[in-house]
Amino acid sequence: MKKVLFIKFGELFLKGKNKKEFERLLLENIKRKLSSFSFNLEQVVGRIIIFDYDEMEENLIIQNLTTVFGLIGVSKAIEVASNFDEISDFISKIEIDGTFRVNVKRADKNFPLTSVELERKLGEVVLNHNKNAKVDLHNPEHNINVEVRFNNETFIYYETIKCDGGLPLGSGGRALLLLSGGIDSPVAGYLMAKRGLKIEAVHFHSYPYTSEQAKEKVITLAKELSKYCDEIKLHVVSFTKIQEQIHMNCDSEYMITIMRRIMMRIAEKICEQNELGAIITGESLGQVASQTMQSINVTNSVVTLPVFRPLIAFDKEDIVEIAKKIGTFETSILPYEDCCTVFLPKHPVIKPTIKKAVCQEKFLQIDDLIREALNTKEEIIIRR
Ligand code: ATP
Ligand code: MG
Repeated sequence: MKKVLFIKFGELFLKGKNKKEFERLLLENIKRKLSSFSFNLEQVVGRIIIFDYDEMEENLIIQNLTTVFGLIGVSKAIEVASNFDEISDFISKIEIDGTFRVNVKRADKNFPLTSVELERKLGEVVLNHNKNAKVDLHNPEHNINVEVRFNNETFIYYETIKCDGGLPLGSGGRALLLLSGGIDSPVAGYLMAKRGLKIEAVHFHSYPYTSEQAKEKVITLAKELSKYCDEIKLHVVSFTKIQEQIHMNCDSEYMITIMRRIMMRIAEKICEQNELGAIITGESLGQVASQTMQSINVTNSVVTLPVFRPLIAFDKEDIVEIAKKIGTFETSILPYEDCCTVFLPKHPVIKPTIKKAVCQEKFLQIDDLIREALNTKEEIIIRR
């Protein structure tokens, strides 16, 4: 009998050619996430077992596993040999007060009892040892799970800690997150990473109009995200000169529209240079003037890569809830200003047109400005 951690992952996706790659990435991601612990790992069909770890570190290991995308749940489990006496011996020691059911999964069809037979027999064992236990097959307070697997291994567990689900990080390719210091963009990055995208990030700052702390805040946010996203390469781009030029030369109504079009162009260039396949933003329809359908159309039209906006249909409250859950909220609400708030026009256009934006941009040396911004770009590798 030994203590193990029993990990379930999303079997639904495990079809066809992707299956091997999915599992390989998942194992790699688990090993990387747990690299500071000592343990052994075994993969059995549809399950991963972690064993030979330091029991003192068990909860910490579980906590780390809950941030590995692609996993559904982790259970503290007991491994016993696949024979009835050993299984029932352990089951007889479980203390149950209230309703319960025994769920048996039998992968090894050579085991002499069927799943239903074993469930009944083990149910009797529980009843015989617990005065206040009662069977409830539909809505039990306690589930006792028994999985009879190959190689004479049976796993027994009765509590599962839910993981985040999603797809293994990296299984969907790599993308660039536009990371401001706000609440939304870290959440957008988290959601896309959860769908399997490995993330790099770009932040635009307008030092000295924005402070050094504003940049530090974004580095902290990236660090918090790296809890889920592993290592993040953060590209830090100075937007100061670009903003000054727009402020001096363009219609103030179109200031934010043009800024956002230039951000997108720079983002696409960074994608090209770093082989990233998409851009991610934290935009939510109608949240501010630059996020109306017309504004999004005008900013989107300068790039050809797909732009993922996972928050497009989210209310702020729902975004805040996720930000709190993933631990970025407290940092996001620190008061340091974002470059979008520098030279902010009183009346930004709500329904811009591509034609007018293009017209305004004629007053700028856009290619030179973008080249200079990229040439002075800083790269920071963020690790948790
Ligand atoms: P957030 O909470 O993410 O800052 P927001 O509600 O403040 O979003 P905007 O300021 O209009 O909205 O920004 C929309 C999106 O544009 C952001 O979610 C982010 O993806 C990107 N963005 C805005 N400012 C910056 C910046 N300084 N650097 C990088 N990306 C930015
Ligand atoms: Mg913002």
